[in-house]
Amino acid sequence: MSGYVILVLVVGLVRFLVSLRRSGETSRVVLRQRPAADDPRWGPPRDEDQIVGTGCARCDEVFVIAAEARRCKKCGIFVHKKTCFAEHKMAEHHTTTAPYR
Ligand SMILES: [Zn+2]
Ligand SMILES: [Zn+2]
Repeated sequence: MSGYVILVLVVGLVRFLVSLRRSGETSRVVLRQRPAADDPRWGPPRDEDQIVGTGCARCDEVFVIAAEARRCKKCGIFVHKKTCFAEHKMAEHHTTTAPYR
């Protein structure tokens, strides 16, 4: 009976040590991993960042934040989302936008 208890303890200890070693290996692998060279975080700024500093195609005022701008799907230009987009669509594409509520 006592031999069985020792066996269980030894098996448990071995399993414990193996799991320790495995977790150690995986954490070392994670530490070694860095973002790849083509990771977007290293690349050029996203489109949103490039909008800031460019001018509205309708009123020529510069966008201060990217959220102000809206891209026209038909001609690909950026105009002010709230004030200029509807005017642009009316003037350039002869369509109206639904009221923004
Ligand atoms: Zn504008
Ligand atoms: Zn357009």
